[in-house]
Amino acid sequence: MQHGKNEGEEYIQAFPHLKKWINECNGCHTKGYDPAMPEHIGETEWNLAAYYVKKYFKPQTLDENGFCEQCAKHRK
Ligand SMILES: [Zn+2]
Repeated sequence: MQHGKNEGEEYIQAFPHLKKWINECNGCHTKGYDPAMPEHIGETEWNLAAYYVKKYFKPQTLDENGFCEQCAKHRK
């Protein structure tokens, strides 16, 4: 099993409410977390959620078309 990438995938599968903070690029389908994500998500029990999301994913912003910086560059 591949390490790293799948861990993050499994994590958001286990906690689907975190998906709203995950940005997936329409071009390369790279996933990253929304840099606007707060330090703590929701109730006390989820306090570690943001920590793990940041651990498993890189910050990723998407442009208005849903493309990451890399893909947006290539499209120009
Ligand atoms: Zn991309």
